[in-house]
Formats: sequence, structure tokens, C-alpha cells
Amino acid sequence: MPLGAHMSIAGGVDKAVLRGQSVACETIQFFTKSNQQWRAKPLEADEVARFQTVRAASGIDPVFAHAAYLINLATPDDDAWEKSLESLIVELERCAILKLPFIVLHPGAHGGSGEEAGLSRVTRALDECFNRTSDTEVMVLLEITAGQGSSVGGTFEHLAGIMDHSLHPERLGICFDTCHAFAAGYDLRTPEGYNETIESLDRLIGLEKLKVVHLNDAKGDLGGHLDRHTHIGLGKLGLEAFRLLLNDPRLQHLPMVLETPKGPDLQEDVMNLSTLRSLIRER
Ligand code: ZN
Ligand code: MN
Ligand code: MN
Repeated sequence: MPLGAHMSIAGGVDKAVLRGQSVACETIQFFTKSNQQWRAKPLEADEVARFQTVRAASGIDPVFAHAAYLINLATPDDDAWEKSLESLIVELERCAILKLPFIVLHPGAHGGSGEEAGLSRVTRALDECFNRTSDTEVMVLLEITAGQGSSVGGTFEHLAGIMDHSLHPERLGICFDTCHAFAAGYDLRTPEGYNETIESLDRLIGLEKLKVVHLNDAKGDLGGHLDRHTHIGLGKLGLEAFRLLLNDPRLQHLPMVLETPKGPDLQEDVMNLSTLRSLIRER
């Protein structure tokens, strides 16, 4: 399985690839624009060309995107919903320009309107986004959330519901985040708990829909709904959970990226990647 990390695009999207290469990533994820702002200046042709050259030379594959945290497709507020949807369309177009296969998305928060209402807003927004980007095949990967506050997407049932009602299920997939899943109540620390989780994902959604794994240890407890990531082996999940996942033959083909805290020299990525690689058993 390709292992890697989320990388900053400061200085240009090509820089994310170079950063990944500098710490021996085999796959990377990045934001195609600032994740804290709605607006983005269009990608320039020379930046795109530089990105494609650097990516091809690096051998890093796949390279994929994460959507801005501001986007909330579950919101009951019409203006915020409209803005979120338009923003996701722009991000899908940026992925198409960069030839990225998919973009990871947090389904959103219902803000008091209720889970059912929130989930149906997400489905309708995605239908609209896919209708309006029908010239590309870029997929949206719904990420399991920690179920914090009024967030939807903290159960496989939620994610399955969005996909089942979608007019374009072929453009939807799943991203499994170890910290979020654990915080949402899925116990990955024992072989029994881990297998039950993966089997339930397969039963409710289908393992073929799982496209990406986020590897993060968790600061909070099982079922505590706390979305706080920490270094591999140093949180409440512990090394055994990652050993189970990294040696699971059902997941061998999947790109897996870290989203753990780090400074500009990326030494924490080096440390976490080396921890992960040490857990993989010789086959
Ligand atoms: Zn995410
Ligand atoms: Mn994540
Ligand atoms: Mn998170």
C-alpha cells in the first residue's frame, strides 16, 4: 500500500509533491486552495505544468485532494449551503485541471435541523455538484467524522444513506479516518473490534467504495467524539490498531496518509512514517 502524508501547497501545488518526496511519501493529499478561505485565485497554466512534471518525476501515486473545512453541505442555512456547493464545484474543477482522481470531503453539520435533514441536504448538494461537473470523473470521498457536535457522517449508516440516495453514486467513495472512527465509537484496538468495524463497513457500504485511509492516532477516548489527531502510537488508539490495519489483506491496495501534527521541517512525518513501516509484517 502506498503510504504518505497530507502536504502543504505553500508556494504552489508542485511544492506539495516536492515536500512529499523529501520525506519518502508514496502518496500525498493536499488542499488545492487555502482551506480557511472561500476564494481562490485560478490555477495558472505554468503552475499546473510544473505540478505535472514534478509529480511524474516523483512517482508519487495517487496524489489527491482534501476539500476546504468551510464547506458544509448539511447546513439548513440556504446561503451557506449555496456557497458551500459553489465552492465544492470550484474544487472539483481544480482537481480536474490537476488530474487528481478524488477529493476527500467532510459531509458537514446539520446545525440543529436534525440528522435526517442534514443528510438529505448533503445528497442534494452532491447531486447538483455532479450534474454541474459532468465533464469530469473526479470522485468525492465522504470521510467518516468523529460525530462531534451536530456533524453528520459519524456512522457507516450515514455515509451509506448519502450514497444510496445519490443520483451519481459512481462518483462517490469513502475515506476511513482512524481517529474519527475511534472517536465515533468504532473500536479498532483489538482484532475483534477491528474486524467487526471493517466487516460492517463492507456490509453497509462495500469495501470496493473505500478509496483512502487517513492514519491518525486519537487524543480522545473511544466514542468521545473528539476530533483531535496525534502521532502514531502516542494516542488512545495505540500501535496495535495500526498493526491490524496495515497488515489487513483487504486494504493492501489503498493509499494511506497521515494527518498528524507537524512543523515545517516535516520531521514528525519522518517519525510517523517510520513507525508505520515498522508495523508492516514481511509477507
Ligand atoms: Zn478530513
Ligand atoms: Mn481525516
Ligand atoms: Mn480530523
